[in-house]
Amino acid sequence: MVEVGDKVIGYSTDPGVRNKGASGGLVTAILAAALEKGLVEEVVVLKHINEYEAIPIITSDVEDVLASAGSMHTVPVNLAKYAIGKNVAMPGKPCDIRGVIEQAKRNEVNIDNTYLIGLNCGGTMYPVQTREMLINMYDIDPEDVTGENIEKGNLIFRTKSGEEKGISIDELEEAGYGRRLSCRYCDVKIPVNADLACGNWGVIGELTGNATFCEVMNEKGVRLLENAIDAGYVEIEPASDKAITIREKVNNVMLSMGEKWSEKVFTEIPDGERTQYYMEQFADCINCGACKEICPVCTCGEDSKCTMYHNLEDNYRMSMFHMVRLMHLSDSCIGCGQCTDVCPVDIPLTTIFRRFADKSQKKYNYKAGMTLERPPFLEVMPR
Ligand code: SF4
Ligand code: SF4
Ligand code: SF4
Repeated sequence: MVEVGDKVIGYSTDPGVRNKGASGGLVTAILAAALEKGLVEEVVVLKHINEYEAIPIITSDVEDVLASAGSMHTVPVNLAKYAIGKNVAMPGKPCDIRGVIEQAKRNEVNIDNTYLIGLNCGGTMYPVQTREMLINMYDIDPEDVTGENIEKGNLIFRTKSGEEKGISIDELEEAGYGRRLSCRYCDVKIPVNADLACGNWGVIGELTGNATFCEVMNEKGVRLLENAIDAGYVEIEPASDKAITIREKVNNVMLSMGEKWSEKVFTEIPDGERTQYYMEQFADCINCGACKEICPVCTCGEDSKCTMYHNLEDNYRMSMFHMVRLMHLSDSCIGCGQCTDVCPVDIPLTTIFRRFADKSQKKYNYKAGMTLERPPFLEVMPR
């Protein structure tokens, strides 16, 4: 019997799934069982194009789920909006789960029938830059790569010949490679905001690389795991004290790396210079709207307040579009990095939005996307 708070090590009972899935295929097997046994109507997964690229799909075909097995650190998409209006299960990084929770706070997602399987996340990378990094730093042909992993502060790649090569993330980032900037200062690494918090941190001994550590966070997590066990899709055993301690240690290492990056990036802007800072940051904006469109916590449509000011005739000295967005996102920005990723003129939007939101979120001791218990401090209109 599974209970809230359980910490277990688990894997798929199907040898094919266990070999193909990241860390023993536990998450793949839980998703497949949720679909096959009718716990959900659909699942959100990444359809792999190659080792570096994938697209999110919503599917009710269990074959799609099995084909999606394996981790993809080079696909920095956010899945939150795929959960809107559906009875789905989805695996997600902490920022995917945070996005879903913010959508649920604004009545766009029914959290009761949305099942969230969180995956530990040390960070994600850009696919093109990763290929370059493999050639320049690892001396590996990108086409030879069969998998990747972040372990003990190292980014490790596996090749077709079975070799593994790891380089410290610090060294890679020093050389201008490695994780997206928003991931470097991200402060949620274990998705304790999901129904199940899964990952390979804490999997030790002969199960290393072949099983997943899984913490049951709530009753929905119990349902997900029990459903998969009853269906015969997964096997679990209690995590040892040593495994639990190691998982915590890895998390602490990742969080302290994040704190260092945060101190480096968010240097204080002196009083009297802030308006100038924001004006300069947004000066190159071409009003394309991509940052609003991609934002996983924005629930407004085309007739939103910010878009009223979103045209080139808006000749305020600082774009009202961005001023409205800065204000609206001050209680919901989760620092996911999506806005920076899509901006065609390379405005570092995530850093700007986090800089603005951080002050009010800290003041109210509020971290967006972590729990439904805390409503947003800006009012939400009833639907
Ligand atoms: S923002 Fe955080 S959770 Fe999201 S991909 Fe980056 S490290 Fe992972
Ligand atoms: S403003 Fe940018 S970083 Fe913040 S939630 Fe939206 S897309 Fe993510
Ligand atoms: S994505 Fe960049 S250019 Fe487009 S509206 Fe946003 S800030 Fe402006």
